[in-house]
Amino acid sequence: MTTTSETRTGLALFGGRPAVARGTRIPAWPRVTPADREAVLRALDSGRFTAAAAGEQEIPGLEREWAEQAGTRHCIAVSNGTAALSVALRALGVGPGDEVVVPALSFIATAAAPLHLMAVPVFADVDPYTYNVTAATVEAAISPRTRAVVVVHLHGLPVDMDEILAVAGRYGIPVVEDAAQAHGARYRGRPVGSLGAINTFSLNVSKNLATCGEGGLITTDDPELAARATMLRQFGELIAAKGERSYVAHELGWNNKPSALQAAFTRSQLARFPEECEQRDHNVRRMLDELAGLTGLALPGPPADRTHAWHILRFRIDPAAFGLGPEHAGPIRAAVQRALRAEGVPAAPYQLMPLPAQRVFREHRGLGEYPWALPGVLDRPYRESDFPITHAVIDNSFAIQKAHLHPDAGDLLMRYAEGFRKVWADRDRIAGYAAQLDYQPPWQQATAIAEKEWAQAFPAADRDLTEGE
Ligand SMILES: *Cc1c(COP(=O)(O)O)cnc(C)c1O
Repeated sequence: MTTTSETRTGLALFGGRPAVARGTRIPAWPRVTPADREAVLRALDSGRFTAAAAGEQEIPGLEREWAEQAGTRHCIAVSNGTAALSVALRALGVGPGDEVVVPALSFIATAAAPLHLMAVPVFADVDPYTYNVTAATVEAAISPRTRAVVVVHLHGLPVDMDEILAVAGRYGIPVVEDAAQAHGARYRGRPVGSLGAINTFSLNVSKNLATCGEGGLITTDDPELAARATMLRQFGELIAAKGERSYVAHELGWNNKPSALQAAFTRSQLARFPEECEQRDHNVRRMLDELAGLTGLALPGPPADRTHAWHILRFRIDPAAFGLGPEHAGPIRAAVQRALRAEGVPAAPYQLMPLPAQRVFREHRGLGEYPWALPGVLDRPYRESDFPITHAVIDNSFAIQKAHLHPDAGDLLMRYAEGFRKVWADRDRIAGYAAQLDYQPPWQQATAIAEKEWAQAFPAADRDLTEGE
């Protein structure tokens, strides 16, 4: 039974009034301003819509402006961030049977991109505090077949690049930055996207720099890699002047060209990108300051030598703060997540399982049995024990995504902080709630979800897709 006063002030999970009033609007991202509209209309009225159109200005304009922002000599715009990764890896010469080291904690695209080249992704565990790969975890994944290392500046926090570059350099292996989540972040004074040999960004609507749909950017200082990437995005063709094509395909390329309208939209976003980053930084820091006193709550934050793009905010919980032992890390996280959601705070998981646990890699659901069936490819059966930190991070932490990206989200974030405070004020009750949960770690939940949705989509039979149709 809840009392009247508890209904007003108690946890929303138990019937109280939520910290964030129901129906509170999350400001839409990306913002669409009159300037953005004009920019897209200008591109529309130009009648030049593709990267191949003679006189088209928006795509080279975006490439010039992003190269300047990222501090690189070259930028190549492509159709999305996943394509950017495939093109970048292929530009480096990655191909069938090569190994590419990627983080065990990332979005699927980081590991799918090498697979599209028939290269084998090999996974590196992450650090429990930064959630990024480290020199040690990368080195453990390197073999004589490693052809590239892809690092992800996860959630917007730059990887310790000097350390990674030193290790990869010792083996003569190039490093690719997947900076899809980290536009504008800096490492030791230098922007991400300027530190690896060839690097990638996404312009998907979910990212800190967005287009009105799908887009991607590749950055490099190397003119030859830039020329190869440009060739690979457009059917393997070298096009000296737009509108003049020889139609010679020098090698296998894709059609991964960007759209001129979307480039115009992103250029318009880019014009206010620095102010928006600053405002977001201000808003997020203000929220984190409010949370700083909450015992056992580990907040995201950059080491002194780098900045955070605040793409995703990840919070880790120490069960000791709830009077529980480490074996309760998962249930406490799940209970806090539920309590926060009841308060109107959009706490959610980011990745239900380590990437190597995804069916596509674990069950070798690539191109038939390939690339794993290629001669000389080392079989690395998936073992949970190879990725202890990634599992722990997925179990004991949760994320807040997208809501904080808009520069006007400051007040909303202060309401979120109030939600956290309420939950922390009632830790005993949350601990009791956690103890009664029928708890399954996220990767086990994901297995059940996977089986169910597969059976729903393909009810006729439990066909194995690797057998061919
Ligand atoms: C979003 C994302 C990508 C893929 O970008 P798309 O534009 O969606 O293809 C790649 N890597 C990471 C880490 C991402 O977050």
